[in-house]
Amino acid sequence: MTQLSTEPTAAARPQPAYLSNQALKDALYNELELHVDLAVQGVQVDPEDYAELHRLAGGKDLGPTTLSELRAPTLPSFTLPHGLSGDARQNDRSIYGLVVEDGQPVLYRYGKRTTRIAEVEFPQRPKSPLAGRFTSDGVPFSDIARVSSSTGLVHVSFSVECSLKDKGEECKFCNYDNRNSIIKTPRQVAEVFAAAIEAGVATSFHLTGGFVPERRELEYYTDVAEEIRAHTGLDDFVGSISMGAPADYTVFDKLKEAGYFFIGSNMEIWDRNIRKAIVPGKENVCGGWDNWVGALEYAAGVFGRAHISSNIVAGIETKKSVLDGVEYLASRGILGKAGIWRPTDGTDLEGHQTPEAAWHLDVAYKQRDIYRKYGYTLDEIHAHHSAGGLTGLLYRIEEEYFENGKLKRWRHPTLQLALNKTH
Ligand code: SF4
Repeated sequence: MTQLSTEPTAAARPQPAYLSNQALKDALYNELELHVDLAVQGVQVDPEDYAELHRLAGGKDLGPTTLSELRAPTLPSFTLPHGLSGDARQNDRSIYGLVVEDGQPVLYRYGKRTTRIAEVEFPQRPKSPLAGRFTSDGVPFSDIARVSSSTGLVHVSFSVECSLKDKGEECKFCNYDNRNSIIKTPRQVAEVFAAAIEAGVATSFHLTGGFVPERRELEYYTDVAEEIRAHTGLDDFVGSISMGAPADYTVFDKLKEAGYFFIGSNMEIWDRNIRKAIVPGKENVCGGWDNWVGALEYAAGVFGRAHISSNIVAGIETKKSVLDGVEYLASRGILGKAGIWRPTDGTDLEGHQTPEAAWHLDVAYKQRDIYRKYGYTLDEIHAHHSAGGLTGLLYRIEEEYFENGKLKRWRHPTLQLALNKTH
């Protein structure tokens, strides 16, 4: 829905004036509401604008042969004026719309009176120093890992297949089911991470993937760590993994010894009975609720406070249940992060609706209160790349984690410390 505009062109556009820290905080609290509402409602995009938005985001220019993508398109994430992201899915019924005006993406709110909210930006991605590089067995680095020079994170999904799918026991909100997906070898993963450290772009590493038959992913994690140590010379590295709870808790001792720094092990649902229905495979393969919680507590004993996280998909069970889970875990040194549930096409919950933005914001503020009650610091809640979530944003706003008149992105400082220790 391209709109006519009377706005000045980009060249004539005045530079924004900097706000005082208090005014920036106030603006960011408003922007947080928009950030959450966009996550809940999505954004509509006219097909005419879709290819242009992708081009502006630095992606490929979509031609007329991309109709299937136009039917189920993904939108590039954009940045709102004060630094929060607009991470919205395309939804033709959303009250928000993204249009192109004078070569700039602009966000609108539609209704009785249409409001032009703001110009937004697509983050500029400088050319990666790893672009065009290949592993020693000839695979492009970009097929192995996503390397973010802004956050310093090297993110590896070792596979997008989950063996719970074969048993018909996949999590009801998850569409992780590509067949014949290739598992990346520990050596490939280590080569990319080592090259990213050498190029000065990596500060942390995260490894994730689905369940592998017979829980072979547990062995794989230690094999990756071994290769990383061999390729980087680091004894411990800011590496994290997402994994299901093991039956034998001593796996955590081995992972710590292997050099990992942080473990994510997602409960997904806190209520015991709802959990059985929503994540049946995690219940059956990993020994049920008691074993999972026991594993988290054991892991916290091995890795230390704020080095274990467990996601709770907020919006499927009651608010009280989500917050009970967050509080129980926080009291034991575990970051129980309530993340916004966004129903995904192709899952058993396709077509369902997540609660409204105010519900999610209330959860975020209450989670912030719980974290403050147990004394978690800004560094602690960001120890893991994804552990911060909405509460992390609240912490950063409250603690004026600002840069150039905007909220600063989190960048993990610890790898540098590990490197300094080694050299
Ligand atoms: S364990 Fe559940 S959430 Fe994780 S990949 Fe498998 S189905 Fe998806």
